[in-house]
Amino acid sequence: MTHRTVLVINSGSSSIKYQLVDPDTGDALASGLVERIGEESGALTHTHNGERHTEAHPIADHGDGLRRVIELCDEVGPDLQESGIVAVGHRVVQGGSHFSRAAIVDDAVTDRIRELIPLGPLHNPANLKGILVARDLLPDVPHVAVFDTAFFQGLPPESATYALNREVAEKYSIRRYGAHGTSHQFVSRSVSELLQREDLKQVVLHLGNGASASAVVGAHAVDTSMGLTPLEGLVMGTRTGDIDPAVAFHLCRVAGMDVAEIDDLFNKRSGLKGLTGHNDMRVVRGLAEEGDERAILALGVYTHRLRKYIGAYAAVMGGIDALTFTAGVGENNVELRAEVAEGLEFLGIHVDGDRNAVRASGPHVISPDGAPVTVLVVPTNEELEIARQSVALLEN
Ligand code: ADP
Repeated sequence: MTHRTVLVINSGSSSIKYQLVDPDTGDALASGLVERIGEESGALTHTHNGERHTEAHPIADHGDGLRRVIELCDEVGPDLQESGIVAVGHRVVQGGSHFSRAAIVDDAVTDRIRELIPLGPLHNPANLKGILVARDLLPDVPHVAVFDTAFFQGLPPESATYALNREVAEKYSIRRYGAHGTSHQFVSRSVSELLQREDLKQVVLHLGNGASASAVVGAHAVDTSMGLTPLEGLVMGTRTGDIDPAVAFHLCRVAGMDVAEIDDLFNKRSGLKGLTGHNDMRVVRGLAEEGDERAILALGVYTHRLRKYIGAYAAVMGGIDALTFTAGVGENNVELRAEVAEGLEFLGIHVDGDRNAVRASGPHVISPDGAPVTVLVVPTNEELEIARQSVALLEN
């Protein structure tokens, strides 16, 4: 079979992450990061054939950054045409109610993504910028937008709906949209394939800097912890997760904080960082091991929230067959996985100490043989999922 590749682009407000992926083998032919766009100290890292190329110079804007990436592919490889590039796949965070699957980018799609900016103010403007410059620079291949919310568009109404005044919710498109959907879809499908079962009741825990849980029955998500925005749900690196909304009113009244300050507090100065001063789980765990009480409490809050969601999702699904950990914390933090399972034996959740301690690069089971719930670690691969969805869409 001739090779084909998809250039996957994740465009942030001052960065562009990219990967040239073979959707059939999952191999990444190249990957890289353009950082600090628009700042004095721009930087670019490009890896190809195990060789890392770095350069540091100002990068004026996203167009400038992506142009340099394409030049680098010419200079140090891989040659985009020779790699068989068939599409550019773009990560878009907020697809609103409109996008329940990936979409081939045309002007109507970019207009929609722009219209959705009020629902995704932190991400959609940067995602859109990435699409616009990439279409200009690579006009001869189709571009596909893959939405982080799409996997959750099919949530049952009772799970997607807030018990908020109906007129207000409808007028302002307020519902639970979820996020990290590309990862939850990739991981839940990997688990089904691995266990060779299409009827599984699964809980997936995506625990990175941002963190979310989902309940998936068969191939469909039935609940997820993120809401209108990625703020709701689990304790995260810098976000509160679930919190009484009245805390915001209270801070407004007693501390005189305005919306922007509360937004910043809840999204950037809370979570593990707010509780301990550090958003990195490795640091928090290290502190806890030294007996730091704030770190011990933070881990307690983090784990308690996870157990609560697992129990709730088991109840929502009427059972649980598989529990999967993914993303930076989920894939690497052995102790956390064991702590989460502790006390959930009544649900059939058990973690085998030896299996849990194994460092494997691929998916692996960490529950004992014959346990009622299969507990797994599955490395997520959002780039591969975006590449796969892009080619699947173009083939149909
Ligand atoms: P993002 O959400 O930014 O994509 P990742 O999924 O890469 O992030 O997760 C990043 C987080 O993973 C880090 O902030 C760190 O807390 C955590 N992490 C990475 N490696 C380890 C490790 N060995 N042990 C515990 N936590 C880890």
